[in-house]
Amino acid sequence: MYRSHNCGELRESHISQGVTLSGWVHKIRDKGFVAWVDLRDRYGITQLVFDEDRTSSELLEQARNLGREFVVQVRGEVIERASKNPNIPTGNIEVLVEEVVVLNESQTPPFTIEDETDGGEDIRMKYRYLDIRRNPVKDSLIFRSKVTMEVRKYLSEEGFIEVETPYLIKSTPEGARDFVVPSRMNEGQFYALPQSPQTFKQLLMVGGLDKYFQIVKCFRDEDLRADRQPEFTQIDCEMAFVEQEDILSAFEGLTKHLLHEIKGVDIETFPRMTYDEAMKRYGNDKPDIRFGMEFGELNDIAQHKAFNVFNSAELVVGIAVPGGNSFTRKEIDKLTDWVKRPQVGALGMVYCRSNDDGSFKSSVDKFYSQEDLSKWAERMGAKAGDLMCILSGEQNKVRAQLSALRMEMAERLGLRNPEEFAPLWVIDFPLLELDEETGHYHAMHHPFTSPKPGQLELLDSEPGAVRANAYDLVLNGNEIGGGSIRIHDKETQAVMFKHLGFTPEEAKAQFGFLMDAFQYGAPPHGGIAFGLDRLVAILGGQETIRDFIAFPKNNSGRDVMIDAPSPIDSAQLKELNLKIDL
Ligand code: ASP
Repeated sequence: MYRSHNCGELRESHISQGVTLSGWVHKIRDKGFVAWVDLRDRYGITQLVFDEDRTSSELLEQARNLGREFVVQVRGEVIERASKNPNIPTGNIEVLVEEVVVLNESQTPPFTIEDETDGGEDIRMKYRYLDIRRNPVKDSLIFRSKVTMEVRKYLSEEGFIEVETPYLIKSTPEGARDFVVPSRMNEGQFYALPQSPQTFKQLLMVGGLDKYFQIVKCFRDEDLRADRQPEFTQIDCEMAFVEQEDILSAFEGLTKHLLHEIKGVDIETFPRMTYDEAMKRYGNDKPDIRFGMEFGELNDIAQHKAFNVFNSAELVVGIAVPGGNSFTRKEIDKLTDWVKRPQVGALGMVYCRSNDDGSFKSSVDKFYSQEDLSKWAERMGAKAGDLMCILSGEQNKVRAQLSALRMEMAERLGLRNPEEFAPLWVIDFPLLELDEETGHYHAMHHPFTSPKPGQLELLDSEPGAVRANAYDLVLNGNEIGGGSIRIHDKETQAVMFKHLGFTPEEAKAQFGFLMDAFQYGAPPHGGIAFGLDRLVAILGGQETIRDFIAFPKNNSGRDVMIDAPSPIDSAQLKELNLKIDL
């Protein structure tokens, strides 16, 4: 038997018991006649004592020969500690060692196995198995497991059936590039790894399963933005005989359950906001509503004066930064530089101080009276002591720029409290989105999303105005889930494909199986998918997903531990009928 107890378990009540523990050597303190060793496992740390007088000098010698991260088994007696450590649960006791067995030696690890390690990101990723021994990473993985268990528990109790769908599939256009896998047995042909199980879950509804879920890996070959992974996990769900309302209520239920079980937070009902309203009030379709700084549009009160920058703009819009009047001129100049960075892309920023005496001082005082500026303040909800920051230009761009500024200010002012949870449904998304580069419309969610009733006719005349039965669940400024009511008849699906630029032949070649299925009694259906990695990170009070993934890829999509991707040898290439000219 390797152990009678684990390293986090022993208390005063165990004193004078004989125990066996196994674990890793965390730390050694040698005082000459006595040595202490901290033994660590997943459950905690227990102090071992090797004492020349109470045991033997050979044993003390053995302790001296241990090294950090050696794997050892010890047998001994639980005794009361002379100097107690109130910071750890086992701090009142120690184990007086009578026998020690080295189960495995270890090289000195390349970084310290401590909560605050000296190892940088790269080295920790290369030795991820050592990183996982550290509490923050270990705890994040345990936390993730707890969240997934709660998801499974809740959905199963609600009657959802967990079904696995294939990983080797046919390419489906969902916006990103597919990862492809060559088929050895079918020369020149390829599978694609699923970007999501979208079509399969719809087919499961045609199959009559009624309520499906799956905690599933999805793969998207995108240029990696910060904190995106090429493979990630979704909680993928679909229901039949449902309207949007049914889906929102089912998955509000799941989210409430998680917030309650995991965080002890109870939220009555989640607010809802249309996409248009979110864009107008926050410049963003995933607004963080934990703080104000709502947009104030100023076109009617700031245009038609002598300030030409505003006059020529499609949108003039600003926010009031709470307490921002305390910023020095230099700090405001820095803020202006910040919005002008290429990542944000504003051309400039107009500011207006809201003074304590009720007066205003702006960078455009030449053009605007105090009365004008007080109207601005009212629009933006600026109070005395605030700083108004105003941007102008093309509507979509300006909204995105001001939204970036709003988030940055909230971050700097500490308004994004990770222990506060503010979920929000954003509904009524546009069905189509104009691709500025190609001038073509593509599906904003995916091609299987159904337009709102009666809006199909608008597709020809005003494609950008068509609204979809599509919704996102937003939590603290992050999209944690998104879905839609689907098209379930062949004709409508054909119209959609046509509008997305597919010829009937292309549609048949790519989605014939789905269109065929729709001819055999497809029920009305809809669903949603949650990004599990991000959901777990947010519930864990963080926004980076990496620590919640056991073996993540780096920013270039590489696994630096196993060194993937990597070339394959020529025999393997030949077998796959692949030729690569390098
Ligand atoms: N398949 C969609 C996605 O991955 C989610 C859904 O529509 O259910 O975003």
